[in-house]
Amino acid sequence: MEGILRANNYRIVKHTDGPDVYIVNTCTVTARSDYQSRQLIRKAVKSGARVIATGCYAQLRPDELIKIKGIDLVIGNSGKDDIVDYLHNLSGSGGRRSVIVGPPGSPLKAKPYFSGRSRAFLKIQDGCNSSCSYCTVPMARGRSRSLYPADVLKVVDGLVTDGYREVVLTGIHIGGYGLDLQPESSLLDIVDKMADSYPGIRIRLSSMEPQELKEDFLGFILKFIKEGRVCRHLHIPLQSGSDRILKTMNRGYNTGYFKQLIHRILSECPDISIGTDVIAGFPGETVKDFDDTVKLIEELPFSYLHVFPFSKRPETKAALSPDQVRGNVKKERVNRLIEIGKNKKNAYMARNLNAILNVIVENKNTTAGFYNVISDNYLRLLVRADRLQPGQQIQVRVSSLTDAGLIAETLGQPAKPLK
Ligand code: SF4
Repeated sequence: MEGILRANNYRIVKHTDGPDVYIVNTCTVTARSDYQSRQLIRKAVKSGARVIATGCYAQLRPDELIKIKGIDLVIGNSGKDDIVDYLHNLSGSGGRRSVIVGPPGSPLKAKPYFSGRSRAFLKIQDGCNSSCSYCTVPMARGRSRSLYPADVLKVVDGLVTDGYREVVLTGIHIGGYGLDLQPESSLLDIVDKMADSYPGIRIRLSSMEPQELKEDFLGFILKFIKEGRVCRHLHIPLQSGSDRILKTMNRGYNTGYFKQLIHRILSECPDISIGTDVIAGFPGETVKDFDDTVKLIEELPFSYLHVFPFSKRPETKAALSPDQVRGNVKKERVNRLIEIGKNKKNAYMARNLNAILNVIVENKNTTAGFYNVISDNYLRLLVRADRLQPGQQIQVRVSSLTDAGLIAETLGQPAKPLK
């Protein structure tokens, strides 16, 4: 939406600058994100500005949001493409409140978004054909659909011209990219085309489901990583280390498969960063189930964890389960996993001491003489340097691990070409 708004001469300002309109892009992944979305809307209303809510919460339960006093408009996910029209109409609506939510699953449009001036995120796929028992994404986003390769390449071309040096390919299931298209395409196909056409950018893959990383497919992904065409970083959600719970979650794999997958990746790319998601306190999770999760996570060398407490999502099977885990137990389990995650992250950072890394400069750090950079293996570092430009690719040597994070020194030469 930000791109569309800027292209139509709207100015994106901070909330301290007194915006005329707030657009709250809501999330409904947990009960907490629902709560935070409502809080943000209330805060926006209080400022006296016009307020539009969109996103997955708006898509799934618009009736809850329109009840918030002072809100002007609730629009579904597909309405984001027409945000400019909604803004035009807002000024003439005379304070009428409305809900405009169509069915999920409208065709995907190419809309990159950005992190600073060096990295761009491009959603190449949306929606999900799976049915995990705790998740509302299929209801909110509809079935899997992809951008045509020609559209992806057109956007990447613009990003490269604008000076972006990293493109993160995102989606709900990027491993399933292209399977819905006519003619069919695939993630391997689009990565291959991007890497061939734009050897100067680095490509990062966002989360991929374990069952998408089957033998041949994984072989190609690892080949791309070893050739430097794709960043040494994969995010593969585990969710639970208990086979019993994985089955109740309807995840479609077991811990044996997951373990083998991670070992195969590490045997070919030992320095890779692998992150994962885990849910604590899923209904029916016993002490043994949780211990199995802890054991599996301890055993596998993840470089970071995203930990979520199980959250009841309306209209899901898991929300109706009578075996809900008590709040305090859930909290303890979450805290334990967060602690393990911190140790894993520190261990991965320590393993990278003295490593020579390809990094992209993001911006100046608040401490004079340092810049924030991000490496291909997903480490954020502080680089000591007099003058660097956002988007610049350099090589650094990691020199120390401090309370502020990893410190690195420039090697005074451009990073090796990524291909
Ligand atoms: S794979 Fe499962 S958790 Fe992921 S979006 Fe689909 S239903 Fe949700």
